[in-house]
Amino acid sequence: MEKTVQLYEGKAKKVFATTDPALVIVSYKDDATALDGLKKGTIVGKGAINNRMSNHIMQLLEKQGVPTHFVAEINDRETVVKKVSIVPLEVIIRNISAGSFAKRYGVEEGIVFSEPTIEFSYKNDDLHDPLINDYHAIALGLATREEIETIKKMAFKVNEVMKEYFKGLGVTLVDFKLEFGRLDDGSIVLADEISPDTCRFWDSKTNEKLDKDRFRRDMGGVEDAYKEMMRRVFGE
Ligand code: ADP
Ligand code: UDP
Repeated sequence: MEKTVQLYEGKAKKVFATTDPALVIVSYKDDATALDGLKKGTIVGKGAINNRMSNHIMQLLEKQGVPTHFVAEINDRETVVKKVSIVPLEVIIRNISAGSFAKRYGVEEGIVFSEPTIEFSYKNDDLHDPLINDYHAIALGLATREEIETIKKMAFKVNEVMKEYFKGLGVTLVDFKLEFGRLDDGSIVLADEISPDTCRFWDSKTNEKLDKDRFRRDMGGVEDAYKEMMRRVFGE
C-alpha cells in the first residue's frame, strides 16, 4: 500500500490517498489543540500512542460486531483505513458529568448518570462545532433519520464495550467523542479515532485524569498520562 497525495491536514492527523481509491492512510501527529483551536502545543509521543490505542480498540469493537474503518496498522504512526465520507457530526456519549456538560448545566464533575447520554455537535470549524439535535441535522441534510438511528445504536454499543474493557484496566470511561462515515455502499462505519484525545479516562481508584484534560487545563503530567494509558492497554 503506497501513500500518494496528501488529501487533508487536520489538527491531529494527516490523511493521504493511496494507490487503492477505497483506502486512505492516516498519519497521527504529536500536535495538540484545545479550546476551539486557541490553545496549541505538542504532546511528545502522542501520535504513536493514539494510533496504536485507537487501532486496538477498533479491532476489539469489530470483534463485538461494530463495523469500523480499520484495515491495517503500517507503523507506529500510520494506519490504513477505509476511505469514508464523514458524517459531519461529533457524537458524544457521557457516563459521568464533566467538561462542557458540567459547565452548561452548572453541575460539578463526577455525577454518575443513571443511564448514558448522547448528544451531537455539527462538525463545522467556522461555526465552532455548535450543539445540534437530530431534527436539525436532518433538516440540514447532514444525515438521514435512518443513519442517525444507526449511529445512536452503534454509539451506545461502543460505550458498553469500552466501559467494560476499560473497567478491566482500572480506568473509568467518563465520556468520549465518536465520528462515523459512509462507505460507497451507503453503510455506516465507525471512523476517526478513539484515544486519550477523544475520551475522558479517570483512574478507577484515585479519579486521576489520564487524558487530554491535563493539556486543556494546564495540569502538567500530560505525556505521563498518555504513557500510563498505553501501559494499561499494552502493558508497556
Ligand atoms: P480535524 O479535522 O478535527 O482537525 P484530525 O486532525 O483528526 O481532525 O483530522 C483527521 C480528519 O480525517 C478528520 O476531519 C476526520 O473526520 C477525517 N477522517 C477520519 N477517518 C476518516 C476516514 N476513514 N476516511 C476519511 N476521512 C476520515
Ligand atoms: N471531544 C473531542 N473533540 C471535540 C470535543 C470533545 O474529542 O472537539 C471529546 C472530549 O475529549 C470529551 C468528550 O468529547 O471526552 C466531551 O467533551 P465536552 O463536550 O465535555 O467538551 P470540552 O470539555 O472538551 O469542551
